[in-house]
Amino acid sequence: MVRVHTAAIALGSNLGDRRENIELAIERIGELEGTSFVARSSLHETRPVGIEDQPDFLNACCVVSTSLSPRALLGALQEIERGLGRDRSHEQRWGPRMIDLDLLLVDDLVIDEPALTIPHPRMHERAFVLEPLAEIAGELVHPVLSATIRALRERLRIHLGGSVPPVGANLLA
Ligand code: ATP
Ligand code: CA
Ligand code: CA
Repeated sequence: MVRVHTAAIALGSNLGDRRENIELAIERIGELEGTSFVARSSLHETRPVGIEDQPDFLNACCVVSTSLSPRALLGALQEIERGLGRDRSHEQRWGPRMIDLDLLLVDDLVIDEPALTIPHPRMHERAFVLEPLAEIAGELVHPVLSATIRALRERLRIHLGGSVPPVGANLLA
């Protein structure tokens, strides 16, 4: 029997037509075999974290229902990244990119491999992930931290001193 998973995906772009890159990626995710949309967030404009000297990002999250395995889903996301012009051989980690698709959660699975770690190991520290994800899936539970996405967002907001969201939340809502 094919198992159906619920997966949360983070999208980000800070090169080219950022809005179009995200919209096209969402369209292509919805076209993946055995995959259908549950929800998508609005677009959030955020300042880069880590390497700050680069253009602002547009970020969003979506939740899908899929019969693809987590590894097959990540492979498909990487193919969509390539199709939208992402070239990993010419980029810097955490630097500018046309599109970045990260797999955040898949059901309550915990996988710890270099090529695939879920939950995404940095998701709980990132307002640009938790803000859009809480919009559409606040009740999802992080299986390692045993906290809902909404609770993690509140915790992060307090940690960041209430300065979240940074630039334009719910932009183009
Ligand atoms: P970060 O992971 O901190 O958001 P990044 O998105 O810039 O950084 P990438 O260069 O896009 O990192 O990906 C580096 C590697 O991370 C990829 O080769 C991929 O196999 C691996 N990876 C591990 N777990 C995941 C995951 N949950 N989602 C996406 N990529 C993952
Ligand atoms: Ca990323
Ligand atoms: Ca990535």
